[in-house]
Amino acid sequence: MIVAKTIAEVRQQVREWKAEGLVVGLVPTMGYLHEGHASLVDKAVSMCDRVVASDFVNPTQFGPGEDLEAYPRDFERDCKLLEEHGCNMVFYPSVDEMYPDGNGSQDTYVEILNDMPKGLCGKTRPTHFRGVCTVVSKLFNIVTPDKAFFGQKDAQQLAIIKRMVRDMSYGIEIIGCPIVREDDGLAKSSRNTYLSAEERTAALVLSRSVRLGQQMVADGEKSTAKVVAAMVEMIEAEPLAKIDYVQAVNNFDMSPAENFEGSVLVAMAVYVGKTRLLDNFIIEA
Ligand code: AMP
Repeated sequence: MIVAKTIAEVRQQVREWKAEGLVVGLVPTMGYLHEGHASLVDKAVSMCDRVVASDFVNPTQFGPGEDLEAYPRDFERDCKLLEEHGCNMVFYPSVDEMYPDGNGSQDTYVEILNDMPKGLCGKTRPTHFRGVCTVVSKLFNIVTPDKAFFGQKDAQQLAIIKRMVRDMSYGIEIIGCPIVREDDGLAKSSRNTYLSAEERTAALVLSRSVRLGQQMVADGEKSTAKVVAAMVEMIEAEPLAKIDYVQAVNNFDMSPAENFEGSVLVAMAVYVGKTRLLDNFIIEA
């Protein structure tokens, strides 16, 4: 596996692959990789001739007081996992390589101006999706992939990236990949490493509430308010959990959904101790 630390190295290698007519896939990540990330790489390997993963903790998607400095990092372990899963190149840039102004920022941003980035995670993280869209745009311009792979775990991010690609005519196919979970149901996340043993047990309330919601819909419940209320009640019964949001929205534009009609995303962010965890499910009716 090639380890590229500069934009120039990535461009040169991708140019060679494209000259051979090879299909290139991109898996953007912030590192500290787990089986969730690996599933994206596996999917990319199955659909592409060459796979590039990026491993970059992007400062512009963290707000003031968030966990940018504390975010876990282990590049050696990441390389091992990526290589084992058939990744061909990892792009591991410095902050200055990505943001050459030297302050982890820049003057040009890519931002969706409709309501998609304002609700759900955007409510408490108002600049988050601007940072995500900007870094993903940069990665698209650097790697010029044919396909890019994102996890359903970050469902709002996936919907926003799809909209950005459409609006900006990127011509890149966006592939969404299902949530990978621990055996006991907890959605895999780099941030799970922050949880104490007690919090790790309490965190199971997220996936339990997902299963409750799914079961209610399977039993015929059509009202999103009733499903969300039952999930909220379950989560609130866990003393270590504090809800940021539990909401049902249209899965394409993130507008509120009253009934389970069309594609509905039921998404949550819940603090367990100081750690903010995400989970969700989608109902296609
Ligand atoms: P991150 O490193 O957290 O920015 O995540 C990089 C990519 O991996 C994103 O597209 C995430 O949605 C995806 N991802 C993270 N955790 C999971 C998971 N448990 N299952 C599937 N995809 C995931």
